[in-house]
Amino acid sequence: MTEPDFAQRTVLITGGSRGIGRACCLRMARAGANIAVNYHSRETDALETVRQAESFGVKAIAVQANVADESSVASMVERIHDQLGAIEMLVNNAGIFEYVTPETTTLDHWRRTIDVNLTGLYIVTWAVKDQMVKRKFGRIVNMSSISALRARAYGIAYSASKAGIIAFTKSASEALIPHNIRMNAVAPGLVETEIIDDVDQTTIDRIVGETPMRRIGTPEEIADVVHFLLSEASRFMLGQTVVACGGRVMLP
Ligand code: NAP
Repeated sequence: MTEPDFAQRTVLITGGSRGIGRACCLRMARAGANIAVNYHSRETDALETVRQAESFGVKAIAVQANVADESSVASMVERIHDQLGAIEMLVNNAGIFEYVTPETTTLDHWRRTIDVNLTGLYIVTWAVKDQMVKRKFGRIVNMSSISALRARAYGIAYSASKAGIIAFTKSASEALIPHNIRMNAVAPGLVETEIIDDVDQTTIDRIVGETPMRRIGTPEEIADVVHFLLSEASRFMLGQTVVACGGRVMLP
């Protein structure tokens, strides 16, 4: 059903080719927004997201860019502007996770993770914000993780990148709200996507056992939170990180 908060708005979702990003694309398309589906390497998957988004009667395009590369992001933003008009909503969702132990972690791994997950989020936000400032309207949601809130011996760089997103969201939201650009974040718990392919079944079973709801999440459940934070239903929320994790972070 088309919703006034989303109808004809142009939304960019980074990492929209699959997983949580694809679910966000489809949730916003269902609400009536035109969708720019960013991807890094999986063009076929991005085109499948476009195909599914178009079935809701909206415009959708796939745009390749490495979020960690400033010139690649600048070209992406220009292309979206040309094809769909100014970007009014942004979901900074692209991210990588590599399962590394304290023994196997390297400086390269640290740099790659921080580059994509944290620096990439800054690069995309800053590339888009001038269009929002000009129009005096912007809604942004950043994808953090409960890894930022719990100890993660096998994902030190990932946890640090996701904690950085929470701090970025607080500071950038204060900086941008005078321009009516409202920014919040989501911190999902474990969600059924390819990113957890590296996590062994014993670990997944342990996490499910530690989760009061006794299950992992679906991409659609996270997309519903993103939809809420982009909509005017959350109009008094700013700089917040909403946790969606089946209750796991309530536990010590
Ligand atoms: P996923 O299925 O692995 O999808 C990752 C997405 O990010 C893909 O669309 C991928 O594009 C894109 N991407 C990766 N590197 C990129 C780059 N350098 N530039 C542009 N796009 C890039 O993972 P997911 O679970 O949906 O993850 C989405 C977000 O949710 C991530 O930020 C992740 O950290 C966060 N999250 C996930 C979970 C979970 O349990 N699943 C929990 C908490 C937070 P290609 O398809 O082109 O490779």
